[in-house]
Amino acid sequence: MLTPDVIEKVLGRIWASPRINADFAAICATGGRFSGTASEKAAVEWLAPRLAEATGAAVTREPIPYRGWSRIGARVTDARGVTHKAEALGRSPATPPEGLEAPLLDLGRGTPEQILAAGEAVRGAIILVRHEFMVGTGHVHRRKKYECARDAGAAGFLIACHEPGLLPVTGSAGNGGPGNIPCAGLSHEAGAALAAQSGQRIRIFVEGVFEDRVAENLLATMQGKGEELVVLSAHIDGHDLACSAIDNASGLACALTVAEAIRDVVPGLARGVQVGLFNIEEWALLGSAAHLAQMAPAERGKRVLNVNLDSLAGAEGITALTSGVPGMAEFLHAALGPAGLSIGISAPFMGNSDHANYIRHGIPALRLCAGFDRPLSNMRFLLTPADTPDKVHPHQLKLAASVAAMLVLAGCASAAAPVPRMDEATVQRLTA
Ligand SMILES: [Zn+2]
Repeated sequence: MLTPDVIEKVLGRIWASPRINADFAAICATGGRFSGTASEKAAVEWLAPRLAEATGAAVTREPIPYRGWSRIGARVTDARGVTHKAEALGRSPATPPEGLEAPLLDLGRGTPEQILAAGEAVRGAIILVRHEFMVGTGHVHRRKKYECARDAGAAGFLIACHEPGLLPVTGSAGNGGPGNIPCAGLSHEAGAALAAQSGQRIRIFVEGVFEDRVAENLLATMQGKGEELVVLSAHIDGHDLACSAIDNASGLACALTVAEAIRDVVPGLARGVQVGLFNIEEWALLGSAAHLAQMAPAERGKRVLNVNLDSLAGAEGITALTSGVPGMAEFLHAALGPAGLSIGISAPFMGNSDHANYIRHGIPALRLCAGFDRPLSNMRFLLTPADTPDKVHPHQLKLAASVAAMLVLAGCASAAAPVPRMDEATVQRLTA
């Protein structure tokens, strides 16, 4: 078990450290880190030596081949001939040079139920739906809306930001393969202007280029007494509309700070800690999926818990998205109680970050995030040009790092596995 002096030492280091803010600023300064861009490469080059320094361990650079894509431009010409700025969604197919012209169909929020209820009207139309606050109960993910519209025969897909302020929204959509449809994000204002023309013909232009590429995951392991590992993860990549400050420079800075604060404690604990900084997360979690898929089963079997840090600041308070993993809520209470820390818990399965891939392999995993069910917090700026460093307060980073550190240490210190490993049937039930 963790002794009070260990807790005091680790939390004292986190709260006294000026480094967390400096790391956060340095990561934001690399830019939006969209996979395949110079900004993402610069972030990997900055993170690799910093991860080695923070963990005191060698860093493995794990190459992940993937079908890359570059955003070039997008716009929409409405029925009156007015052109609206747009942002291509990640991996959108390009439209022909003259654009794609079709009737616009405004489906409001654009839930799968709304899309199915529209029936044959969807076929051949450009569908307009709304982005929604992403870290909350009942959120319907953009990808679900896109896939439903595509599968119902839509010709194109537009998603308008829920937040006023001329902020186009982005994100990825589709799988980069054949059969996908051109898609782009709009500002709230452009969406409102277009909605008034539902039923009329509009023209969308999307430019982008596909290319085979390689991205790198960064991994470093601090050994404990035994072979088992707790995995502390955060994703590197982001979107290039801003500098992906909340999502996920906040998680990266916290992961580095936690590693630095606990590295001299870990060798005395039952389990070690692997820090995994995963790439291409924004593209349907490709980096962590490949990392786990190519791992030998015996290696996967050593991993007992994944604490995934994604969008940890920009709001007061931290929530654990437990995905209903049996025993996880009990573990959280036991782990945080001794430090007097408390967090919210949301139990529905959340497949929206790298922890989901651990769950799919039966490894208990959770995501920590800020601002859950707080739609007025700065979390509303995720995936927009307003995801900038000014949205984050340093104390939010330190609180998140404190929570993460306590979870990782408790996961390393317990005599038995901190949370029971899940069998296939449990995984199926949780992820259904
Ligand atoms: Zn994220």
